[in-house]
Amino acid sequence: MDLIGVREVRMAADRSDLVFAADEIPLGGGTWLFSEEQPGVGGMVDLTGLGWDPLVEQPDGGLTIAATCTLAELRALPPRVGRTAHPLFAVAVDALLGSWKIHRFATVGGNICLALPAGPMTSLTAALDGVGVIWTPDGGERRVLIADLVTNVCETVLTHGEVLRAVELPASALAGRVAHRRISLAHLGRSGAFVIARLDAHERFIVTITAATPRPYQLRFPGLPTAEELADGIEGFVRDWYDDPHGAPDWRRAMSLRFAEECRIELGGAA
Ligand SMILES: Cc1cc2nc3c(=O)[nH]c(=O)nc-3n(C[C@H](O)[C@H](O)[C@H](O)COP(=O)(O)OP(=O)(O)OC[C@H]3O[C@@H](n4cnc5c(N)ncnc54)[C@H](O)[C@@H]3O)c2cc1C
Repeated sequence: MDLIGVREVRMAADRSDLVFAADEIPLGGGTWLFSEEQPGVGGMVDLTGLGWDPLVEQPDGGLTIAATCTLAELRALPPRVGRTAHPLFAVAVDALLGSWKIHRFATVGGNICLALPAGPMTSLTAALDGVGVIWTPDGGERRVLIADLVTNVCETVLTHGEVLRAVELPASALAGRVAHRRISLAHLGRSGAFVIARLDAHERFIVTITAATPRPYQLRFPGLPTAEELADGIEGFVRDWYDDPHGAPDWRRAMSLRFAEECRIELGGAA
């Protein structure tokens, strides 16, 4: 789409270029920014010129995903011994039902910062205890759990001039056993509910609900909960089931409860 209000798209070459005028915003892959009108936006700063390594393996088995890593690059990451959560990468990328062109341009950071409830990179990285590394305008950085970074529909904790630099996935989460369920109202529609559960090395059970809610909801149990404990936990915690053309709140609630229970059983809970 022609963005007639945009005067300039600057290619950032290093961090000193990440100084944003009042009407300038970061540009990731542009798959959303160039898809609709952007009122009030006069300029964009293209982050892809910064040349960040898309995926950096850490010596301790953790993984750092650059904000500019594309969905296609993430999906192509080879599996690694002991990284039991690896299959989730493909599951999450495929949950964004765009063409291969979209997957080649859309970035992990753009997906998280856009903060749609059906943002699969938010689902993935929140479920794996991902930590967002945020570059602040004063040259510093701060870290926020991805589960806390997205606060509402198209709202995040980022303030103007802040840039998501990377997402750090800890080795312990990547080595967990995972189960997942996702549903869309239409066959090739946007996610209406996406539930990911994880059992870590200490047998802690972590369930993350996205797409069904305006923001990620994460519940942690010291061990595998009973069916009742899980359902009560979710019902007591999630109050705002999301409502839009991709699904009604009562349907999203019912699907999320059912999926969480299915994941609990898949990870060893008594049926
Ligand atoms: C066919 C199709 C299907 C789609 N399906 C889905 C879907 O199911 N779920 C979904 O969530 N989206 C979907 N989208 C929307 C969009 O394509 C994706 O969310 C995509 O991942 C956005 O990434 P991007 O890099 O293109 O972001 P951009 O369009 O470049 O940017 C998106 C927003 O994030 C900001 N931003 C980008 N990078 C950063 C950064 N590092 N730091 C701070 N702010 C940043 C931008 O300023 C902008 O506000 C779909 C789009 C299409 C065309």
